[in-house]
Amino acid sequence: MSATLRIDLTAFEENLRAVRDRVAPAETMLVVKDDAYGHGLAPIVSRAWLSGVRWFGAFDVETGVQVRRELGRDARVFSWMVFGAAQTTAAVSADLDIGVGDAATLEEVAAAAQRAGAVARVHLKVDTGLHRNGVRPEDWAVFVDRAVELAARRAIDVVGVWSHIAEASDDEDDAARARYEVAVAQLRARGVAEPLRHLSASAAAFARPQFRYDIVRIGAFCYGIRPAGGPDEQQLGLAPVATLEADVIALENGATRLGVGSCDGLPSTLAGRVHVRTPGGDRRLLGIEDTEALVESWPDAAIGQRVQIFGGGAPSQTDLAEKIDSIGEEIAVRISPLVARCHR
Ligand SMILES: *Cc1c(COP(=O)(O)O)cnc(C)c1O
Repeated sequence: MSATLRIDLTAFEENLRAVRDRVAPAETMLVVKDDAYGHGLAPIVSRAWLSGVRWFGAFDVETGVQVRRELGRDARVFSWMVFGAAQTTAAVSADLDIGVGDAATLEEVAAAAQRAGAVARVHLKVDTGLHRNGVRPEDWAVFVDRAVELAARRAIDVVGVWSHIAEASDDEDDAARARYEVAVAQLRARGVAEPLRHLSASAAAFARPQFRYDIVRIGAFCYGIRPAGGPDEQQLGLAPVATLEADVIALENGATRLGVGSCDGLPSTLAGRVHVRTPGGDRRLLGIEDTEALVESWPDAAIGQRVQIFGGGAPSQTDLAEKIDSIGEEIAVRISPLVARCHR
């Protein structure tokens, strides 16, 4: 009688194909942070692996280790939130590709590798303007020198150079890409001839071929989540993957109660702003309480009927997000882990 998040793995696979066709010959790294954007990590990475994806963007070490466990030793698993001795040690022993964006972490990774008798694969991160994480351009030369030195001692292998961009305006992205190009050239000048280059996420990878380089890191579009205020799913060639469903649990005067609420991750600010898909057609969402939601009724409404809140013919996650100045990813990842995921 409670909410269910249905995950259509066939739609997911078709999105993967659309993304990979679009960005080829660049390789697609499937980003799986936040439990694969709320879609359930294990079934998502398994299906992606079967359909040919070989790179996975795991954000933190814990997620990276989970992906490694699911897929075995041949998957390339990139984690970039790796800090301190415990995490670097775990990352090295799980044979992750490690994103390194500061000098202290570079030392930690090298030390962890030496303790383990391993060579850590690192991707050096330059800050191209987001100021979130990454080595500032003015510190890049020294950072690269140190990385090259550690590589000469076989503590690390410098396999990649990367950054993250805002994807908010073309001008800003162009400026970021120019800084990125300088950083890549500096790395090459110091003898790292063929680093794997990766700069863009969904939006830039789709729209701007010169941003694709060797690998693109794609999350949202693989899950069929379009950008707020951007092109629609059909234009992008993508299909929604997740459908949030809830049962009718009670009938009142002119309203029906559904077994889904803000405790399940549904933002209460959606009340009055969106329609849901009922067996009697689209009906307004009137209110959201802790564990229940109130919807305009329809003829023949009955307890046990299923209603779609997003996906599956109802508005998409991004449609909902746009009503509350948010983004589709936010709607997706907020769905509580206690809501049952049903994959098919
Ligand atoms: C989340 C994330 C991505 C994926 O972004 P999407 O817009 O969902 O494709 C790529 N790179 C980094 C560093 C990220 O944190």
